[in-house]
Amino acid sequence: VVKLSHVNKSFGPLQVLRDVSFEVNRGEVVAVIGQSGSGKSTALRCMNALETIQGGEIEVCGHKVHSDKLDRRALRRDVGIVFQSYNLFPHLTVEQNIMLAPTCVKKLPKGEARDIAHRCLSDVGLAEKAGSYPEQLSGGQQQRVAIARSLAMQPKVMLFDEVTSALDPQLTGEVLKVIEDLARNGMTMILVTHEMAFARKVANTVIYMNQGVVWETGPAALLDDPQTPELRGFVGTGL
Ligand code: ATP
Ligand code: MG
Repeated sequence: VVKLSHVNKSFGPLQVLRDVSFEVNRGEVVAVIGQSGSGKSTALRCMNALETIQGGEIEVCGHKVHSDKLDRRALRRDVGIVFQSYNLFPHLTVEQNIMLAPTCVKKLPKGEARDIAHRCLSDVGLAEKAGSYPEQLSGGQQQRVAIARSLAMQPKVMLFDEVTSALDPQLTGEVLKVIEDLARNGMTMILVTHEMAFARKVANTVIYMNQGVVWETGPAALLDDPQTPELRGFVGTGL
């Protein structure tokens, strides 16, 4: 479903991704880990055409993301992305936030969009909050609304960029549970995360990025048996 081949990405003189290659198959959950500045967010942003690349190829759900002929709308219909900040519209209710993209981008009738919104809200455990405004919700609830908003577009792939790092531990748990449910239901996901225990539990594959390079990759068991001193240091089993 997702394939990066020899991707290079620079911001001016700063090379942020170096010859990055990996594949994600349908139903697979991939955790991307690594130090701050190692290029994790940039890699996700490249997959959704929020950044251009200077070399290599990216294919996501059949879209050639690196191509001049890319249909961004079609790409973004297939790919949901959730960030650390929830970016909900404060003047719209939860339900209106979720209905926005289905009605404006997909041109669904309001009734249908509302049905989808309610289904997605109950998927994240917030069925009773449809009429609330974002400021009336906790951080964890707002983040779950942001996830529901992405799900309402019925994406084929979900990208999560440290969606829990702004939350305290209890709220983190609520959000991780939603992601775990998605994994169980077969959603293809790429998660940038600092939650090692969660990566171990939910991810099929772990990618450790270091200095813009895919330094190590393998099944989640990799975290218990790092092959490089860098990953060993990162997971904190001594260096
Ligand atoms: P973190 O764990 O802190 O979120 P990250 O692995 O997600 O880190 P990125 O955000 O991908 O790291 O950033 C990788 C490098 O690219 C960093 O050195 C960063 O300063 C640089 N960078 C990111 N975005 C830009 C930009 N728009 N312009 C210039 N440099 C950028
Ligand atoms: Mg980041």
